[in-house]
Amino acid sequence: MSEPESHPNAAVIGRTIPYERFLDCVHCGLCTSACPTYVETGDENDSPRGRIYLMRSVVDGQIDLTDKVKGHLDLCLDCRSCESACPSGVQYGRLIEPFRVEMHELSTAAPTPVETTLPASSGPDWFHRWIMYGLFPNRERMARALIPARWMQRLKLDRLAQAAGLTRLLPERLRRMQEQLPPLGKRLPQLPSFLPAKGERRARIGLFLGCVADAMFRQVHWATARVLQENGCDVVIPGDQGCCGAIHYHSGASDPAVELIRQNYEAFSDDSLDAIIVNVAGCGAMLKDYTHILKEVATDSDLDPAKFVSRVKDVSEFLAELGPRAPEGPINATVAYQDACHLQHAQQIREQPRHLLLMIPGITLQPIAEAELCCGAAGSYNLTQPDMADSLGQRKVSELMKVRPDLIVTGNAGCSLQLQAQLTKAGHSVPVLHPMELLDLSYRNAPLNELT
Ligand code: SF4
Ligand code: SF4
Repeated sequence: MSEPESHPNAAVIGRTIPYERFLDCVHCGLCTSACPTYVETGDENDSPRGRIYLMRSVVDGQIDLTDKVKGHLDLCLDCRSCESACPSGVQYGRLIEPFRVEMHELSTAAPTPVETTLPASSGPDWFHRWIMYGLFPNRERMARALIPARWMQRLKLDRLAQAAGLTRLLPERLRRMQEQLPPLGKRLPQLPSFLPAKGERRARIGLFLGCVADAMFRQVHWATARVLQENGCDVVIPGDQGCCGAIHYHSGASDPAVELIRQNYEAFSDDSLDAIIVNVAGCGAMLKDYTHILKEVATDSDLDPAKFVSRVKDVSEFLAELGPRAPEGPINATVAYQDACHLQHAQQIREQPRHLLLMIPGITLQPIAEAELCCGAAGSYNLTQPDMADSLGQRKVSELMKVRPDLIVTGNAGCSLQLQAQLTKAGHSVPVLHPMELLDLSYRNAPLNELT
């Protein structure tokens, strides 16, 4: 990493961001139409170009980090659509993410003159401390917290509470969490530490489970493991792995993120693993970024995750490279595939999931308009920025429904939660599934109603 050039406000904010990264932006504006927040508000400050300008102006000491400035930066989804659109190769994620880390550090630091530039309301609130950092990243706590929700759904008390208006008594972000809950079904057993390949062994892989995904979508992990077994992979599931760290890092809390990087690095240290497989786009993008993150926010770290990172693959990417066995069970359905931002923009994976789906006999894929725009999930964004998340969610649902799909398919747990909630809100009942669930079903020649 090259050293940041000095600039007037370097002691305040921007010290971990090489200054030339801001200069990569030539203000051409070609990214604006790809930016979901700009498309919604039409405000230049909510565009990539505008945000880069705002960050640079703060770094240069030309403007203070006021609530208004912070509001424009917080409204960014970190979806990285602007990176796909930018002809100048601006690394937008590598500007906004360290900038947010520094905003977080400044807001939680002991009182110094620096804090005079910050809004009085800064610092993690109860929701970040107890829910986002305390609950979400911990698989076991999440699973325990979902037990009452599971029972409420089973007894249909959740609908009763909603109809009686009782959920309106909850704080807004808890109410939204409740609204986002998918049908939880019966809790599946934990995956074992090892599942053997079927037939001739072609690879030995480690399966990453994550946190929220394992608590809410364990069926997707089971389906992924079966698909990998079917394709000749020994599947190793290290029990001591943790959350990928994205919840912390993307909200600016770098220290706990670095601890999680170490935990996962150690959990997947088995040299015999050919790949570390991820089925959640957001987690995959984070794992692939470990080397870079450590260079930026933990310069004294003794870890070198380069080998770890080189083995991280989204499951669709891995199967495309391995050469998937053709599935034979028919699924007669029109499918609308929704590209998760952290697959299409952060990992540049677009074709592989589509090819896998098209291998299934009977599936018709329908392209949708505005596929490059975020659905408004963006990790915990739909909890922290509800208005924009709803606008983008309804916009996405409207495009998806135009192709009259029998099924909506996406490779990211956050998108699934957001789409299911927004479909329900709009009065639609189309199932939202993961590509691995359909592939698994076809390999097993099982009926579609097993999933719907
Ligand atoms: S981020 Fe890229 S596309 Fe957007 S204004 Fe800057 S140079 Fe142009
Ligand atoms: S990351 Fe997404 S929301 Fe943020 S500026 Fe880029 S396109 Fe816009």
